[in-house]
Amino acid sequence: MEHVHRHIDEHFKDYLSAVGDLVRQPSISATGEGVRECARLLADMMTSAGIRTEILETGGNPVVYGEIPSGRKDGKTVLFYGHYDVQPPEPLELWESRPFEPAVRDGRLYARGIADNKGQLMAHILAVRAFRETGTDIPCSVKFVFEGEEESGSTSLAPFVEQNRERLACDIALAVDGPMLSGDVLNVCLGCRGVLNFEIEMETARFDCHSGRGGDIIPNAGWELLRLLRTMKDEQGSILIEGFMDGVRTPTEKDMEIIAGLPFDRENLKNLYGVPSFGLDKNGYYTKLNLLPTLTINGITCGYQGKGSKTINPAKASVKMDARLVVDQNPLDIAEKIRRHVARHAPDARVTVHGFMHPSKTDGDLPVCRTVVSALEKVYTDKVALSLGLGGSLPSYVWTDILGVPALGIPYANQDSGGHAPNENFRLDLLQKAVHASAQILHDMK
Ligand SMILES: [Zn+2]
Repeated sequence: MEHVHRHIDEHFKDYLSAVGDLVRQPSISATGEGVRECARLLADMMTSAGIRTEILETGGNPVVYGEIPSGRKDGKTVLFYGHYDVQPPEPLELWESRPFEPAVRDGRLYARGIADNKGQLMAHILAVRAFRETGTDIPCSVKFVFEGEEESGSTSLAPFVEQNRERLACDIALAVDGPMLSGDVLNVCLGCRGVLNFEIEMETARFDCHSGRGGDIIPNAGWELLRLLRTMKDEQGSILIEGFMDGVRTPTEKDMEIIAGLPFDRENLKNLYGVPSFGLDKNGYYTKLNLLPTLTINGITCGYQGKGSKTINPAKASVKMDARLVVDQNPLDIAEKIRRHVARHAPDARVTVHGFMHPSKTDGDLPVCRTVVSALEKVYTDKVALSLGLGGSLPSYVWTDILGVPALGIPYANQDSGGHAPNENFRLDLLQKAVHASAQILHDMK
């Protein structure tokens, strides 16, 4: 294996220029600009690395799919997931070099999509190249799923995985994306929360009437909405919707062990959010972040919001909300429970679901997970940490729930890589490490 690592170091300049070629090609899923051209370019790069590659159509942007079959019958199969689409580069005036003209400055490569996610997915392809160029066998089977819609909600991913179950069969899925923790700590994510986005709308009268003539006589949509919201959470913040907490698992010893290994800086969190005090301790914080669901008001609309005053009694009110969901909570079931709750407390209100994603959780003690973590430890030494998730929601359930395999989230990019922002960048030392990491995973996944 040493010679593969040495080869990566010796040829990193060439490898970097291949990464440059990929980021030079725009692939903005929000507008569609360059998406298909990028899929073709990526497919060509994979083919010339010796990967059997196809562009597979979905209802939306195509998936670039690749396979390396293993010569060994009993070999393991690892699936790498990533995305070749990028965020729009605007505002252009804040970029120090043009977003689709890769530029190296201060040991970093700057370009839109370099960290999120083209540089990261190229790490696997370059690792494969290093095996090929040194005439070394890859001991496992490898599959690659690179989608073109991640930055637009991954709408086609679940149906794609559903329709290609057999083709995608594997022992583990690795979603390599996102930034590391501070201090170049690579946090391997064992899951993520799901999410349900919804809106509640109320109409209490035909029009906003004069508050002197209709106030306290005609029902006020604002007060009615507040009354309804008050039935959903108590003073302590506990969610009161019937059945909402059903199936929420109590944290296991293993969960608490993982939490114990994570960093926690109360002052830092206090300053980050600009709050006068931060009451949670480490266990409380990570339990809320990873192991408990939430019910959050995203925005409320009602009555007059303009300058000065307008003395009306509003007839309409609406609230946009989201619920972050933990494993064993089904977003559709939760939506039904919310509907029932609203019907009981405000029969005329309307609930609309705007979107949802299932939660996912993987057992880090599975041998195949341990293999990946130990491969990463060989490259990042003592800077690998396990985490239960980042609080947000990713489509990892397509691997854990649809394919039924463990899934790990692995971030290769520097913490300050500025994904989605101007001057997105990838530190060259970490990009090089990423190629070593993917190579080590391929080697160890026997
Ligand atoms: Zn992104």
